[in-house]
Amino acid sequence: MKCADCKADAMAPDKTAYLARLPGGYVVIENVPCMRCAQCGEAVFSASVMERIDEILEKVQRIAGKLLIMDYAQAA
Ligand SMILES: [Zn+2]
Repeated sequence: MKCADCKADAMAPDKTAYLARLPGGYVVIENVPCMRCAQCGEAVFSASVMERIDEILEKVQRIAGKLLIMDYAQAA
């Protein structure tokens, strides 16, 4: 797998925090699996991870305050 940003063949599995802005505030999802480029630091999420992030965001929209911090592995 090559980096879409700098084209280096240096992508490795990693975890990162995903910040989303919702109408009611902000949501941070921690420990989201991604592939990260060792050269430029660009993080890429797989389609299945993006789907799960969307699911988590849909659920938290109803309960979110100004800032909500979720854990990817522990979110229902
Ligand atoms: Zn890169």
